[in-house]
Formats: sequence, C-alpha cells, structure tokens
Amino acid sequence: MIPTKGYAAQSATTPLAPFSFEHREPGSHDVHLEITHCGVCHSDIHQTRDEWGGSLYPMVPGHEIIGVVKQVGASVTKFSPGDRVGVGCFVDSCRTCSNCNEGLENYCENQFTGTYNSKTRDGSGLNFGGYSNQIVVDERFVLKVSDKIDPAAAAPLLCAGITTYSPLRHWKVGPGKKVGVIGLGGLGHMALKFAHSFGAHVVCFTTSPEKVADAKRLGAHEVILSSSEEEMAKAAGSFDFILDTVSAPHDLGAYINLLKRDGTMCLVGVPPETAAIHAFALVMGRKRLAGSLVGGLPETQEMLDYCAEHGISSDVEVIPMAKINEAYDRVLKSDVKYRFVIDMATL
Ligand code: NAP
Ligand code: ZN
Ligand code: ZN
Repeated sequence: MIPTKGYAAQSATTPLAPFSFEHREPGSHDVHLEITHCGVCHSDIHQTRDEWGGSLYPMVPGHEIIGVVKQVGASVTKFSPGDRVGVGCFVDSCRTCSNCNEGLENYCENQFTGTYNSKTRDGSGLNFGGYSNQIVVDERFVLKVSDKIDPAAAAPLLCAGITTYSPLRHWKVGPGKKVGVIGLGGLGHMALKFAHSFGAHVVCFTTSPEKVADAKRLGAHEVILSSSEEEMAKAAGSFDFILDTVSAPHDLGAYINLLKRDGTMCLVGVPPETAAIHAFALVMGRKRLAGSLVGGLPETQEMLDYCAEHGISSDVEVIPMAKINEAYDRVLKSDVKYRFVIDMATL
C-alpha cells in the first residue's frame, strides 16, 4: 500500500484537517503520481459541507490534480516516470456503455467514479482526492500536461477549464456569436479566456463592481453589473449563448430574457437549491435551458493541448495546505482571483 498524507473533512461541519490514509499498490494498468498542485473548486466546498446531499466521510477533496509520475504498472503504455500529468473529476467509469465508448465518460450510463466523495468501483472503500501528496489512477483516466504550462496554473484546467471549454465547443461559440458568462470566479474566468480565444464577442455578468477591470483583462469585451436594471434591460434579446457559472441561487429568468430567439443558456454552476423558472421565459422565443458536466477524457486532453498551444492557463493564488479553510471562506465571499491552488510541497 502507498502511505499518503492529506487533508480531510470528517463531517459536514468540521474544518479540513490533516489525515493519513493509504492508496492501493499500482496494478498493471495504474499510474502512481506524486501530486504537486491541486486546485480548489467550489464543488469541493459544496461536497465537503454536504450541500448536495449524500457526502461520504472522511472526505479528502480535490479534483484539479497536477502531479509527476512516480511509477507505472507493467502494462502502462502512455506514461513514464517523470512525466507531468493531470487527473480531473473522475478516476473510473464502466468503460462499456455507449457514452464511455464515445469518450464521454463524464456521462457514463453506469455512473462515473468520482475522484473523491465516491466508493471505489469494486465497492471496497472510498476514493480520496487531490488535497494530498499521492494518488494511484488507471492510465485511461490520466491526462498528459505540457511542461509549457506552469503546473500551478495548469491545475484548474482539470475542472474549471474543461467544464467551460466543453459547452463553449458544444454550442459552437466563435466568430459572429455574442456570448455571456455569468459569475467571475474559477469557472467564469476560464470561460472568458476560452470564449475570447474562440473569437466570440464576450460579455461578463458580475455582481462584483471591483472585478470589472479584471473581467476585461481576462477577455470580456463588455462587462455588465447584474445589479443594474438599466444595463440588463439594454442587453435584452441580444445573446446567442450564455454560460451560467454561479454557485448560489439567482434569477435564471433575468438572463434567459437576454437570449435571442433560439438562444441557449447552459448551466454549469450547481447551487444546492432548486431554481424556479416560468415557462414563458422559454416559450417566448423558442429558447433552450441546458446543462453540462465537466467533459470526457478525449476532450479534456484536447483542451489541455489547446491551452499549451495558445498560452492559456488559470490565474491562480497559490496557497499552503494549512490555509485551505481560510481559502474556502474567501471563495464563499466571491473573493478569489481567480482560483486557489494548493502547493503540495507545503503539506
Ligand atoms: P467560484 O469560484 O466561487 O465562482 C462563482 C462565482 O459566482 C462567484 O465568483 C461570483 O461571481 C458568483 N456568485 C457567487 N454567489 C453569487 C450570488 N449569490 N449571486 C450571483 N452571483 C454569485 O465557483 P466555481 O469554482 O467557479 O464554481 C461555480 C459553480 O460551478 C459551483 O456551483 C460548482 O459546484 C459548479 N461546478 C460545476 C461543474 C460542472 O461540471 N457542471 C464543474 C465545476 C464546478 P461575481 O463576483 O462575478 O458575481
Ligand atoms: Zn470542480
Ligand atoms: Zn459507462
């Protein structure tokens, strides 16, 4: 077994604290990596605090993992010791359903195995995530990460990056399209970068006036303060696509009203509360409300390669492991510029 150090929550109401555990010895298809960095996603907070229900404890969160390969099993072909690699939101899936066969393991019909807050595929124990110094993962679920990207700034690509890249690609965001991004946090700042890079006209919606200059630097052509009724009214009926990254309850109808006929609003943010929406918001103008969950392995690799080629990475604030509870509090105050990343050397 591989002795591992990390930080865990023991219940929904306890802060994260040091925790020791073991990973399996690498099997023939496994990659054992030493984790160097792990991003802090708002989903880590939702799950640590059991805001979505069904959380499993002890919980070692973290699904924006960057590491260096330490050893590989005898049958591993894609990786060698010393390679820079990444692991995202899932570490296994059924591998046989039609979605898995299409490289959409994120939509596995038999439920993907989350990197943490999940049982191992054989049901024998729990999976522990990236707020830790080691992990063992089947090579199919490990991504190659170019040395061209700073490793701390690469970590958030494994969740915030693919979660925004995938719907922007799916809905063909590009030249001639007007695209809105709601919420300027971890996901939102990556969405601005990608939408700008794909050639769209990009508008950021924020509740935080102090983020306006940053939004423009990150790729927004325009910034709208969602608190301004006048600015919201002016934008009515003008958007082809809107990506909603907000983590807390808010009025979806106010944004659907900004779509053109046949426009789509896609939810990626998952507030714990159910959102209300009147049918008129959609029927007037044949509009669509959609959702999207991270991305499959082939598209995640495509996104990582795109980032290396185009010089795209996350704007990060690197923190020592011991500051994780403080970082959670700051994320909840929307005070993150624009992703916290844990430096695992501080563990
Ligand atoms: P984050 O860094 O906390 O960003 C969320 C942003 O939403 C905040 O920075 C803030 O932006 C805005 N916001 C927060 N509270 C708000 C409120 N009450 N009303 C309006 N706007 C508010 O979080 P994140 O890591 O980007 O994650 C965002 C959401 O996506 C979370 O719910 C997370 O669980 C979910 N998520 C989903 C997927 C998926 O696959 N679908 C993947 C990862 C994360 P402003 O200050 O600009 O207003
Ligand atoms: Zn995430
Ligand atoms: Zn499957």
